[in-house]
Amino acid sequence: MTEKQNDSYKDVLDRLEAVNKYLNLPDGIYGRLRIPKRSIIVSVPVMMDDGSVQFFDGYRVQHNTARGPTKGGIRYHPKVTLNEITTLAALMTWKCALVDIPFGGAKGGIACDTTKMSRDEIKKMTRRYTYELLPFIGPEQDIPAPDMYTNEQVMAWIMDTYSMAKGYSVPGVVTGKPICIGGSLGRKEATSRGLVVVLLEAVKNMKLSVDGLKIAVIGFGNVGAIAARLLYEKGAKVVAVSDSKGAIHNPKGLDITNVLKFKAQNKTVTGYKPADNITLEELVSIDCDVLIPAATEGQINSKNAKNIKAKIIAEGANAPTTQDADKILNDKGVVILPDILANAGGVVVSYFEWVQDLQRFFWKEEEIYKRLEEIMINAYKQVNVLSAEKRLDMRTAALMLGVKRVAEAIEARGLYP
Ligand code: NAD
Repeated sequence: MTEKQNDSYKDVLDRLEAVNKYLNLPDGIYGRLRIPKRSIIVSVPVMMDDGSVQFFDGYRVQHNTARGPTKGGIRYHPKVTLNEITTLAALMTWKCALVDIPFGGAKGGIACDTTKMSRDEIKKMTRRYTYELLPFIGPEQDIPAPDMYTNEQVMAWIMDTYSMAKGYSVPGVVTGKPICIGGSLGRKEATSRGLVVVLLEAVKNMKLSVDGLKIAVIGFGNVGAIAARLLYEKGAKVVAVSDSKGAIHNPKGLDITNVLKFKAQNKTVTGYKPADNITLEELVSIDCDVLIPAATEGQINSKNAKNIKAKIIAEGANAPTTQDADKILNDKGVVILPDILANAGGVVVSYFEWVQDLQRFFWKEEEIYKRLEEIMINAYKQVNVLSAEKRLDMRTAALMLGVKRVAEAIEARGLYP
């Protein structure tokens, strides 16, 4: 995110321009990559529990379809804007291409505060939003998935609404849905597992050891909490974690099994013992080897980057590091495992879910994790080789690989008509 303008799509364009200095794409293709294919804005009226009608702004951006149908999450958050959704849709295009799955990128969202809404209000909002998007989504068109403050229940409502309109069940319209209606084994842990695979490759490459590796996690939600648990199980020392209410720190390491229980009971990690309560800002500069941002965009920025002590940043969140922070961290020699690589495990297993839904044939969990690991290691190695060959940071190398593959697809298909 460019901090001055708070215009995250400008950041996408700047980074694209930077990789195009190496790729030298023809103007027609470069131009196509800069502009999303389709941006849909819908107004979503909902009859609230008190009888009033509220209107929510909903968005779905389909960034690029050159490599296949579009794929990307749906976010429910008060700060959702078209600019943010467009940025996240573009990142999905590069991410799907980087891990070489046959999708383009999309993202959707509704500006709302679900913490202040009842289950019934969220259900009605989801169904009406889906109805408004009916002409634009589908297993061959655009396949939503969960993102911040949406979950498998929301996906089940989307799948049901779409299926009702079609007159038959269409499980392949969304991924991240419950197993009983066509969800995939392993989807819930996929993003974190993928992140851990990539992180451990980097750790090996840097001649470090996972045993006692000090980890700090921003955002103890689906991605952050599961990554913390998996690393804890592998012998790493998770020294600090945070959620939207605050952060906790124990330099001797937190017992993540107990933190998970505490969070389930208290809805926050703050107050957990044995640990000290610290501020979110203090967590960013805590003494650790690996920092895992797994909450919102721009949390690592020019104000805090210089204080970061981690040797590796593994981006669980999308766009957690601003361009200014990137420069500071690259100069300090911090290895950044970029979002489009580090958190791609979620979309990889979403792809597996979609394939299983289309074939009506479901795989075992071991098979899913094995194929996921193969794809993640392969992507990491490709990025690492390019980064070493061209002396580029990992983000630029990852972006180059992703953008190049999308450009090749645009070129192969040609300009219509
Ligand atoms: P989530 O809603 O399950 O968890 C988000 C967590 O971040 C919560 O614990 C919340 O309390 C915390 N949080 C919110 N604001 C915070 C703040 N200012 N400081 C500290 N913590 C804060 O969401 P999630 O699915 O884990 O997604 C997290 C990030 O990972 C998002 O950027 C999302 O786009 C990205 N991502 C998610 C997936 C996935 O499969 N879920 C895949 C790829 C990328």
